[in-house]
Amino acid sequence: MTKGKIHVKSGDTVVVLSGKDKGKKGKILRGYPADRKVLIEGVNMIKKHTRPSQQNPQGGIVEQEAPVYADKVMLFCKSCNRPVRVGKKIKDDGKKERVCKKCYSTL
Ligand SMILES: [Zn+2]
Repeated sequence: MTKGKIHVKSGDTVVVLSGKDKGKKGKILRGYPADRKVLIEGVNMIKKHTRPSQQNPQGGIVEQEAPVYADKVMLFCKSCNRPVRVGKKIKDDGKKERVCKKCYSTL
């Protein structure tokens, strides 16, 4: 495991493999490579107490995502319709591409 490097990036669709949100699918909103964590849309929601503000005049409790460990998520392959392992393919121009290890479609 290399520090500061995670296998997913923002915009990726991933599936959560463990914890209370096991099986949930969502889009990565932000990556935190230094912490090996990612923020996923709709996953690991926590309730936060807030003071009244202009956006939220009532104050009270808002729900928001909290980061989860990147090791707990797997990339989702649309073609396979399931979480998959990621492989690397080197294209003719020398650029690396992430592909699904099952169906070899680009992820
Ligand atoms: Zn696939």
